[in-house]
Amino acid sequence: MNELHYQVDLLRAINRKQMERERMYLKVCQVAVGAFLYVSFERGQITTLGQWSEYFPFEIKEFRDLELLLDAVDESCLLQMGDVIYPEKSGRETADMECLLRDGRTWMQFRTRVYYNEKGKPDEKVIYISDITKLHAQKDELTYMAYYDSLTGLYNRNYFVRLLGEYLKRASETGCIVSVVVINIDEFRKVNDSMGLVVGDELVRQFGAFLKELCREDIIACHLHSDVYCMAIYDPVGNKSVSFLHRSIQERIREPFYLKEGKDVSITVSMGVAEYPEASDAALELINCAEIVVFKGKACGAGTLHYFDAPVMDELLHSIELENKLKKAVYSKDFVIHYQPQYYAGNRRLRGVEALVRWKGDGGELIGPTTFIPVAENNGSIVPIGRWVMEESIRQYAVWKQQFGFPFIMSVNISALQYKREDFVDSVMEVLDRYQVRPTELELEITESVLIEDFRSVAEKLRLLREQGVKISLDDFGTGFSSLAYLKRLPVDTLKVDKSFIDTVMTDSSTRVITESIINMVKSLGFEAIAEGVEEEQQYRYLHAIGCDVIQGYLFGQPLPPEEMESVFSDLLQ
Ligand code: C2E
Ligand code: MG
Ligand code: MG
Repeated sequence: MNELHYQVDLLRAINRKQMERERMYLKVCQVAVGAFLYVSFERGQITTLGQWSEYFPFEIKEFRDLELLLDAVDESCLLQMGDVIYPEKSGRETADMECLLRDGRTWMQFRTRVYYNEKGKPDEKVIYISDITKLHAQKDELTYMAYYDSLTGLYNRNYFVRLLGEYLKRASETGCIVSVVVINIDEFRKVNDSMGLVVGDELVRQFGAFLKELCREDIIACHLHSDVYCMAIYDPVGNKSVSFLHRSIQERIREPFYLKEGKDVSITVSMGVAEYPEASDAALELINCAEIVVFKGKACGAGTLHYFDAPVMDELLHSIELENKLKKAVYSKDFVIHYQPQYYAGNRRLRGVEALVRWKGDGGELIGPTTFIPVAENNGSIVPIGRWVMEESIRQYAVWKQQFGFPFIMSVNISALQYKREDFVDSVMEVLDRYQVRPTELELEITESVLIEDFRSVAEKLRLLREQGVKISLDDFGTGFSSLAYLKRLPVDTLKVDKSFIDTVMTDSSTRVITESIINMVKSLGFEAIAEGVEEEQQYRYLHAIGCDVIQGYLFGQPLPPEEMESVFSDLLQ
């Protein structure tokens, strides 16, 4: 009897433990994010647990109900779904898949485990199902970001380089050519400045969308950065060639782009081409070469198409060599300054001198600034060069003022990079202070490009300098933007009419009309007008007659080394 009691107690205890465990599993299933399906083959039992009812509008009570899952998924997943619901049919223990439901939006992950008995027959099966729609969307976004540019929908630079690499590999096997074309919207900055960044972005987007239309098999496009795009053509022939691309683009841009808020804009674009194998056999280098020619081409005018060929390559090597030599020159200060006098047109008295830098080459020859200043502006060495010119010309001025006893104006050319520096105003004032030169004896020459780039911050710095008495002169006037409305807002004292006007002023009547109206405009705004590059007496007389204040040019004096300038000063004193 005791034995029986003991047996019953034991059974009860086991039962209680089992029920506790069952309750525990039920709770775990409720908390777990997902639905479970448990199948016992032995007992012919099938149970759904967890969030089943939130996931599916049907219950599964019998084996054949499992087929309902097949109806719930998108057709594209049907084949694989069979394996996930019935892995035991092929003797497998596990089966996993991500599948799209029939609604076309929801993604579910299925994980099935089958447990076999020692005879190899399936005993139990568990299917775990979880909603991974959010995860999928994030994955899609990440994939998109990895391959595409979000503004234009074109490939991004990284993925484009990879695809171009594949073109090059294929071309190395087939002997085909690959053309890499860099495309740039001309004067894009003006669109951004005048219409705002949102409209600028819209233009970049629309032009990108147009380039996408030109893509097909063996033609790909990407948005490199800002307003620069790149396309690659594998085996360019016929209507798959660079000239076909060029024609298609030209045709499109004949029509304006209709941007937001009723704003439309007409553009021109410049293109640069580099080809495998001629220019390089590496993807990045080809893009670089094409970019070099597109921006080099721009110097010859907007809307151009240029190829990277042997002469361009030579020039590039030359400029690299020049750049290296220039770096050394900056270090050892291998520069000199020549000074060119400026005279008042009326009484021919000295107004001032312009400091013009020269580089002392290896063989002692002097290299002109038009050769090396663009290189120095490109690699940043214009900043130390400019600082040296400023210091040396002011030091020289202080010496001359003491030696000859009369004040005049020292004009110094300043590059955009110098203005952009935070400490620009302080550094100018510090040098003036050090050599005890009055701010009114210094004039800074700037070009319009400086102002177009960053008007507000440059104008603020110029205003600060003018407050101290430093004169500001706008160099090469007439070659750039030069609108009257914009002139009014400029913090300048002097305008230098570019030499290109003076060159033809006596021979071309339309240049005469323009020059006269520039001088009139300058006078009406209260600025001083200087004519640059005056070589002939006739030009001087004419310029004087139309009211030009100051004359600078070979007629009255070439740029001279300091010692020769000193004899000019001595002559002036007599
Ligand atoms: P710029 O400031 O417009 O200087 C005038 C240029 O015209 C000088 O050329 C001068 O020698 C030349 N020139 C003056 N009168 C005549 C003439 O009657 N006939 C002819 N054919 N040419 C004349 P340069 O010295 O070769 O300087 C060229 C440019 O280099 C300058 O143009 C200026 O933009 C830049 N530059 C010169 N020195 C510096 C400098 O220290 N810093 C910066 N950032 N740029 C400089
Ligand atoms: Mg100048
Ligand atoms: Mg000039």
